[in-house]
Amino acid sequence: QLRASHPTFAAAKAPSWSAGDKSNVVQAATQLVNKRRANPYSKVLRSGSGTRGTVADAHHSDAREAIIWTTNLYLGLNRDAEVVDAARQAVTKFGTGMGTSAAASGLTDLHLAFEQQFAALVGKPAACLFPTGYTANVGAVAGLLGENDVVVIDQLCHASIVDGARLCGAKVRTFKHNDVDDLACVLESEISPYRTVLVIIEGVYSMGEGAAPVAEIVRTAKRYQALILVDEAHSFGFYGKHGAGICAAQGVSEEVDFIMTTLSKSLGSLGGVVAARAEYVDLLKASARAYIFQASVSPADIAAALTALQRINQDDALREQLWETARYMRAQFSAAGFDLGSGDGPIVTPHFADKDKLYAIVQRLYEKGIQASAVTYPIVETGRGRLRFICSAAHTKQDVDVTLGALQEAVQEVEAVFARPVTATP
Ligand code: PMP
Repeated sequence: QLRASHPTFAAAKAPSWSAGDKSNVVQAATQLVNKRRANPYSKVLRSGSGTRGTVADAHHSDAREAIIWTTNLYLGLNRDAEVVDAARQAVTKFGTGMGTSAAASGLTDLHLAFEQQFAALVGKPAACLFPTGYTANVGAVAGLLGENDVVVIDQLCHASIVDGARLCGAKVRTFKHNDVDDLACVLESEISPYRTVLVIIEGVYSMGEGAAPVAEIVRTAKRYQALILVDEAHSFGFYGKHGAGICAAQGVSEEVDFIMTTLSKSLGSLGGVVAARAEYVDLLKASARAYIFQASVSPADIAAALTALQRINQDDALREQLWETARYMRAQFSAAGFDLGSGDGPIVTPHFADKDKLYAIVQRLYEKGIQASAVTYPIVETGRGRLRFICSAAHTKQDVDVTLGALQEAVQEVEAVFARPVTATP
């Protein structure tokens, strides 16, 4: 069973107060505000692109120019001239909002073209578009499974997968991160001809560790007649031929029942999509409440995503650029002595033993015009932390060099401050 103490679960846990208890609500809200104030990477973008911009501290408004490493705009397509122009033209043609759900005819030919072309690229006959990646996972899982079913998820799966699993009422089991043997043990104890078992994994997790063993996991799931959904949020666009993703790269697109991705990362827009065989997609469109009861993706967003999808399909140079920058960043940071763990992808995460020093480093970096984020418990062990830099094809080698220089300075400055003895004030 998914335990309340489990990191993923704990992160998604609802507040312990009830809506009727006003004093607790106020208390919890105040604590939250104080926490946000202390959050060193809650920033507002005043202008700029995904990789450079004028960034302001949300509370102190000290705006500065920064190199931004905190967005998942992997291919930089959010600022691509063709993509931006497509969004502009869609607004002129269709206006700004769709005003209703896709199920209630909130669709344009752009939405349909996106579903068709995405499905074709990932090797499936059909696809179902949702307003965000989050609601695609929640909608798909809750739309497919019911109380008699079982959902088996990797322990590090995204909150949207956990929330979909909880919402559908099915029995939820987790298996150890990327551990195929543990998955087999869980499946062994759950398999039954009377219920559906759905395994859910991510193709690449967001902490910079490289691709999951998707092919092995798929083989294991199929051995137990389980269905499998792969979330390609951090792999679509730059793994596999034409950027089709990790399932394509590992040759298992056909065996994977549901291939999901978000439109907010490589595609530079907003939305979520699940591709599958036609009957499954029909079922999703008839049963996923996030599809039926939620307004559909706006015309500008779907036009941008469609143009970005076509670019991804045709333009190998974009992903080559991303991989080159990522490799360069990893090589430079490793040579400078930073421990990056075992990953190989565009999310570069120097490990730090002390989370307090890490927060101080993030603040120093910001003061030097570098926006990065800190990742701490429950994603990594208590007390430790990782600094996260998300590479984009729009970053340059010079951005990497400037960032590394600033990081080395920031580490030295913070070490000096922490080494100073704490003296009593007179
Ligand atoms: N799945 C994964 C693995 C994600 O990382 C995210 C976003 N961080 C989502 C789903 C949700 O996507 P979106 O933010 O586009 O709603």
